[in-house]
Amino acid sequence: MNIILLGPPGAGKGTQARHLEEKYGLVQLSTGDMLRASIKRAEPLGLEAKKIMDKGELVPDDLIVRMIESRIGRPDCEKGFILDGFPRTVIQAEALDKMLADKNQKLDMVVELKVNEDLLVERVSGRFTCSRCGEGYHDKFCATQVPGICDKCGGGEFTRRADDNAETMKARLGAYNSQTAPILPYYESKGILKSVDGMLSMPEVFHELEKVLGVAPSCGCSCGCSCE
Ligand code: ADP
Ligand code: ADP
Ligand code: ZN
Repeated sequence: MNIILLGPPGAGKGTQARHLEEKYGLVQLSTGDMLRASIKRAEPLGLEAKKIMDKGELVPDDLIVRMIESRIGRPDCEKGFILDGFPRTVIQAEALDKMLADKNQKLDMVVELKVNEDLLVERVSGRFTCSRCGEGYHDKFCATQVPGICDKCGGGEFTRRADDNAETMKARLGAYNSQTAPILPYYESKGILKSVDGMLSMPEVFHELEKVLGVAPSCGCSCGCSCE
């Protein structure tokens, strides 16, 4: 199954993609994570992208498309992937269609995570990540059980993103509304767009995702929903 998680910064794409990866073995492809890894390695691509990311603007399409094309061609993606943060423009969406058609593959579903703007700012402002295993946390909504220690790997170092501040967030939301939101009608016209309420709790959002993807367990779920 090949899917896209679409939504503004802080909507919960990375959080849900990691859960889908763990539970269903799909590969999470996050262009933001790829760019940040490239910055860490001080590659020319990363250094070029960093200036743009710090302003909250979008990195040029051709650069992103080349990056995702080489990643999607790797064998681990054959079992299915979740795109998180790509595509972000109609040009990227068209390039993705072409890339997949060339490989005789297709997109199964695009899921939009809907969250109000006020909450998005709060979400990104409190976001932090374990430096060792990459687990995502939030100061208020999803803190570590023991302060300063990662629940998952026991690591004690965490990172906060340079662009996760209220000012850059304004530019990122502007970029989402003007350049990324126009992708929604593109996928709607193909009949593969679904929407999930991203304001729910993390397990509830996950369960809603499982439902729209048609993989929800038929009973025994623990999220308090009324599904049978
Ligand atoms: P995105 O990848 O869309 O930018 P993230 O998955 O990184 O968003 O989530 C942003 C922040 O909000 C993180 O700190 C995460 O822990 C938190 N978060 C994600 N989903 C929820 C949720 N359903 N309820 C509360 N907090 C959430
Ligand atoms: P978020 O999780 O908050 O949605 P990402 O980690 O996906 O943010 O992206 C961080 C930044 O990386 C973006 O603001 C943008 O500058 C750049 N970026 C990531 N993916 C893309 C893309 N598909 N096209 C253009 N720029 C991108
Ligand atoms: Zn960890």
